Amino acid sequence: MQPNRRLSDFLPLKFANGNQVKQFSKPCVKCGTMLEAKQMEGVARLVEDHIAIAAEAKCHKCGEVFGVACVINPEKQVKRVVLPRLLFNWYLRVLPVQKGETAPQAMLNRSAFDVLPEARDAAEDAAEIARVNAARQQVKAQDIVRAEEAIGRFQDKAIPAWLLLDGNRFEFDRIAPNAQVGEGEYLLDGCLIYRAKA
Ligand SMILES: [Zn+2]
Repeated sequence: MQPNRRLSDFLPLKFANGNQVKQFSKPCVKCGTMLEAKQMEGVARLVEDHIAIAAEAKCHKCGEVFGVACVINPEKQVKRVVLPRLLFNWYLRVLPVQKGETAPQAMLNRSAFDVLPEARDAAEDAAEIARVNAARQQVKAQDIVRAEEAIGRFQDKAIPAWLLLDGNRFEFDRIAPNAQVGEGEYLLDGCLIYRAKA
């Protein structure tokens, strides 16, 4: 079995059509920082003219560790592999090295794993990053004082007209039943949005 190594040690990998993969990068699932092959550890192999990658990436910025499992076709399109990464990693490591790094086509096509279009992969990554960024930019406070003055009621609870968040006054802005909080906004009781007084 091959040991896991820095992914950059496997690059460049060359397809039969002459295309080469010299670099491989992926955004951190937590903070969005672009991570390169040298920040990933695992295995990258040429399997029947596809480059298969199963690795673990570690973000140098936020420390997040996450799995990367994908197959790159000769047109350099990346497809996510829907198979537990550890299993895929094991498969790539035990796969015997053959002439030109090939394996029976059946190995890649077998239902053991399937691939999703890269568009969906990218969309999932973007949604994940947007969610993380929104959560990071929303206002957090230790000391919360609610105004006694209510401007209405929502789901049988009073809506305080304003809040003092760590001493800063925030005015009620809107009701957000889906808890969608924007940058610089504070979420109270999971559904009330407050903004800093302009
Ligand atoms: Zn990160």
